[in-house]
Amino acid sequence: MKLSTIQASLDQLGMEPTRSLGQNFLHDQNLADWIVAQLKLQPDEAWVELGPGLGALTEYALARSQNGIVIEKDGRLAGFLRDRFPALEIVHGDASEFDVRDLFARGPVKVLGNLPYYVSSQILFGFTGEPSPVSALIFTLQKELAERLSAGPWTKEYGALTLLIGRRWKVKYLRTLPGSVFMPAPKIESGVVLLTPRPAGELPACDGVLFTRLVKMGFAQRRKQLRKNLADANLDWLALCAHLGVKETTRAEELSLEQWIALTNFATASGGAAGQHPAGGTAAQQLEHAAQDVHGEIFDVVDAEDRVTGQLSRHEVHRQKLLHRAVHIFVFNEHGDLFLQRRSRWKDTHPLRWDSSAAGHVNAGDIYADTAPREIEEELGVNATVEEIGALPPSQATGWEHVRLYRAQHDGPFRLNPAELDGGGFFTLEQIDRWTTARPQDFATGFLECWRLFRAEV
Ligand code: SAM
Repeated sequence: MKLSTIQASLDQLGMEPTRSLGQNFLHDQNLADWIVAQLKLQPDEAWVELGPGLGALTEYALARSQNGIVIEKDGRLAGFLRDRFPALEIVHGDASEFDVRDLFARGPVKVLGNLPYYVSSQILFGFTGEPSPVSALIFTLQKELAERLSAGPWTKEYGALTLLIGRRWKVKYLRTLPGSVFMPAPKIESGVVLLTPRPAGELPACDGVLFTRLVKMGFAQRRKQLRKNLADANLDWLALCAHLGVKETTRAEELSLEQWIALTNFATASGGAAGQHPAGGTAAQQLEHAAQDVHGEIFDVVDAEDRVTGQLSRHEVHRQKLLHRAVHIFVFNEHGDLFLQRRSRWKDTHPLRWDSSAAGHVNAGDIYADTAPREIEEELGVNATVEEIGALPPSQATGWEHVRLYRAQHDGPFRLNPAELDGGGFFTLEQIDRWTTARPQDFATGFLECWRLFRAEV
């Protein structure tokens, strides 16, 4: 938008820019076009703009794809945008409180915003936190925040924020903007950053909850040595330093992201949990673990009435499409939200699709009721009591499995097994209804059968 148009629009609305809402309007049109171009929006690709203001970026996003939503807190500006872009979905609301899980039903979503500085970090964490349907974000931030996001070790900008975002997102600092491109001009400069999800297997997996806890502890007092900050973590410090190849006097900012992940996996292993979860190691090692497990498994082969007729290896059972047994478990939290898991990329069926909270085959000689709690423990790393809520006959959709569906209650946090799961999160039942209807292709077919059964029963 040109400066004169911005001024005329504000006059028409009878408003002055509101400082407390971080209202600084971009008046450099080339820059607006350039920012949007970095997202490489394809026609019909879903996008969301946060804090659209008078629509400086919006018009360039709309020119590329009509499939957008904007979220604007100022009711006067939301009204202005409704007049300016009548076909656009405009949410009059607070972007820092927006429930990102609603976006899964739209498919992968690209996000953009020249963000209001006072609430940038909350918005950033809201849209990048797990689970997130976001495939790329471009944000204009206060320069200092943009630098902290993209910092490398051994710098003063590098810290907990860098690592907490950086474990799952690649951050690219694209350019610095002077205050003069905005009206009114802020005193400080801005930085434009592009965030994209880290590609599969680029970094070793680790327990995300533990990683966050350790990083926050590690940077709690920057000037102190890491050993002191992590005193409560009960780590064998000398063994850890040897493992990481660092000095005993090292500080939090001297460890790279990879070393923080290695530290987390060391902590997992020393907590006695290593045997439970093949967490850590390289991506290839994890794949090997998964493959070994798969090849060793023997299943009961059953008939249409679920009577055992023999035993064969997993491989043969699947190859010959023989009937066998499996459990699915729906884990609910105290609000009644259901935890969905995103299947690991190593899975031989439905990799990276969304699935029941936990699920697995019944091994030869085992029974459904014992398999269900064991799967919860193996995949989610917690113990929970299960209650059977239904059964499904074998079909192509279940992968020729007789399925027993169980429910359990647990609020997390879970210690997700990276060989089995790529991630997960709690969703409201209404969100899952909308998502399964809009995008069934995002789900493992066995889950869709269980979901239909569950929705028919409740
Ligand atoms: N995108 C426009 C541009 O580049 O000209 C406006 C950018 S201005 C820096 C920030 C915008 O965010 C303002 O329109 C402001 O009203 C809006 N805003 C402030 N707080 C918000 C919040 N919590 N949620 C959504 N929008 C917000």
